[in-house]
Amino acid sequence: MTYDDNNIFARILRGEIPADKVYEDDYAVAFHDINPQAPVHVLVIPRGRYVSLDDFGEKASAEEIGGFFAAVAKVARMLGVVERGYRILANNGPDAHQEVPHFHVHLFAGRRLGPLIKRAPTG
Ligand code: AMP
Repeated sequence: MTYDDNNIFARILRGEIPADKVYEDDYAVAFHDINPQAPVHVLVIPRGRYVSLDDFGEKASAEEIGGFFAAVAKVARMLGVVERGYRILANNGPDAHQEVPHFHVHLFAGRRLGPLIKRAPTG
């Protein structure tokens, strides 16, 4: 799958669309999800042009991958959710309902999050 430079997260990275940022460094940018599913719902995205985790894992350098996941953990510490706990999740492809074709990790926290996966319609 080729990367679409007009996807919404690419536009956030270029500063064309505002985002409620909580953290950024050389490898990652983190911002609040516009439609939160938990009291804390933050998205962490790499700066590079990767469609999905599959693309990221295949093409990103070890430095980019390490820097990105270190940033995810750092964001959780900054948000103060480590002690109570949090969940990270990355949707990859159609069955996972990935909507935005720029790799991102969801970070959920702030309440008891319940079971890992909600029952979805079959198909
Ligand atoms: P996914 O289904 O994993 O691709 O999730 C995409 C997420 O991006 C959803 O949770 C959306 O609410 C969120 N989202 C879409 N547009 C924006 C935006 N402009 N700012 C922040 N979050 C967004």
